[in-house]
Amino acid sequence: MTEPNAARAALITDVARRANIYLDGLDGRDVLPTAEALSRIDELAGSLPGGPGDPAAILDLLDRVGSPATVASAGPRYFGFVIGGALPTTVAANMLAAAWDQCTGRQVLSPAATVIEETAARWVAELIGLPEGCGVGLVTGASMANFSALAAARHALMARAGWDVGSKGLYGAPEIRIVVGGEVHVTVLKALALLGFGRDTAIRVPVDGQGRMIADQLPTLDDRTIVCIQAGNVNTGAFDPAPEIIARAKAAGSWVHVDGAFGLWAAAAPARAHLMAGFNGADSWATDAHKWLNTPYDCGLVFVRDEAHLRGAMAANAAYLIDSGGREPGDYVPELSRRARGVEVWAAIKALGRSGIAELVERNCRQAARFAKGLKAAGIEVLNEVPLNQVLVAFGDAERTQRVTAAIQVEGTCWCGGSVWQGRTVMRISVSSWATTDDDVERSLDAIIRMDRANA
Ligand SMILES: *Cc1c(COP(=O)(O)O)cnc(C)c1O
Repeated sequence: MTEPNAARAALITDVARRANIYLDGLDGRDVLPTAEALSRIDELAGSLPGGPGDPAAILDLLDRVGSPATVASAGPRYFGFVIGGALPTTVAANMLAAAWDQCTGRQVLSPAATVIEETAARWVAELIGLPEGCGVGLVTGASMANFSALAAARHALMARAGWDVGSKGLYGAPEIRIVVGGEVHVTVLKALALLGFGRDTAIRVPVDGQGRMIADQLPTLDDRTIVCIQAGNVNTGAFDPAPEIIARAKAAGSWVHVDGAFGLWAAAAPARAHLMAGFNGADSWATDAHKWLNTPYDCGLVFVRDEAHLRGAMAANAAYLIDSGGREPGDYVPELSRRARGVEVWAAIKALGRSGIAELVERNCRQAARFAKGLKAAGIEVLNEVPLNQVLVAFGDAERTQRVTAAIQVEGTCWCGGSVWQGRTVMRISVSSWATTDDDVERSLDAIIRMDRANA
């Protein structure tokens, strides 16, 4: 066995070396892959291998052709979508967890991964101020967290109306009304579609210019209504008025779900925590770890106040799925087999601690404010109030905004994406990475202002 072991050791040592070279190169390269790098990616396509390949050559091809063709979103000047980098401790933990290859469906499959996941989830709940004893599942991201929470809500409200939706399905089921804001995230609508509620049947509450639901315009609520609110709009970073909405919903017996993919993390930073006031009164919450906690992709968490509702919607049992008596991880998520994605959450929180997470969130918010201030000083329009880490920018009309955004992307110092916000074509800046320094912000501001001037 020494020979295969030696070959494996060489492979893993080599990949660690390559990973370090890749990470060292992130700061110096353009954010987008060069045309030359992209011209070679076809080498990764090709036909089905007829037989075994040489492991060292496989890794060499992956690194030589694949690495330069990646988008440097793990680097310090990627401001597209809401992405976040990956803290070094989480990358290393991820590599070790790959070696473990644990299936985290049942406790018996991995006592270590089970404890790590439970501990990580408990820490996240504490960091963002959620009630103790929530049911929790570690899923691929906020999309699946929204889906899982809304499945729990469906289960709970229908059970209250005397209908077991898990066994009887939706035909003939009591009607559940869904209420969302006018700027609801598309993944909430997708979850509604997957759950059989439909995308277009939800009642849409009007919003203000920042995308916040106007509480006065809520429809009449009852105990067969699910109200979906958001903590952190994906464009503006705005928060719905949770105290008013949750008070009304509680009085009526409605379920309140919070989509807080990145916004929930405001609660972890003392100077931003006011934005999260009242949100912990909801019934369920969805968030991401791969965005603002800066774990590698993919990882999100779902929390449900009454764990029985999440388990009721998700548990599946068979004689061979040994029950250990405690919390079975697979009883709280859609999947049975699942990677041990709690490992990186655990590692991130160990690496930063409460104070480090507060500092990360606050720094990114301060950097977003610096972008807004610098752009305004250069005569460039900022459309949102910038309460958090998102900045919406317009360089004049739609055509010019698109032209300047494209020029910024090609210039390469940083990368920002585009969108349309309430009818205006905009460029979006999201500051979500541990790796972004104040100097990166100044360099990026410079590049943005230069591209604005060059495209007059
Ligand atoms: C990113 C995001 C989602 C979806 O999360 P994924 O991690 O991409 O599944 C949902 N809601 C909001 C507000 C988001 O920003």
